[in-house]
Amino acid sequence: MTERDWETDFDGVHGYYLNRCGKCELLFHGHKHRMLCRVCSPEGQMERMVAPVRDALDPVKRNIDLGEDQ
Ligand SMILES: [Zn+2]
Repeated sequence: MTERDWETDFDGVHGYYLNRCGKCELLFHGHKHRMLCRVCSPEGQMERMVAPVRDALDPVKRNIDLGEDQ
């Protein structure tokens, strides 16, 4: 499992194919029709941009973070 893999695809029948990214040309796992790895795709970039904000707004994770700081 790497940051390039489409983890959300793995449940599907064709969700665990080894593909070569059309942009960075590195191998990644995901649906067999995927052309780009998660790092290079707009969808993946958006997800990585949003994730820290989403985590910061998550009360459970925020409490855990506060607990570690004290
Ligand atoms: Zn790529």
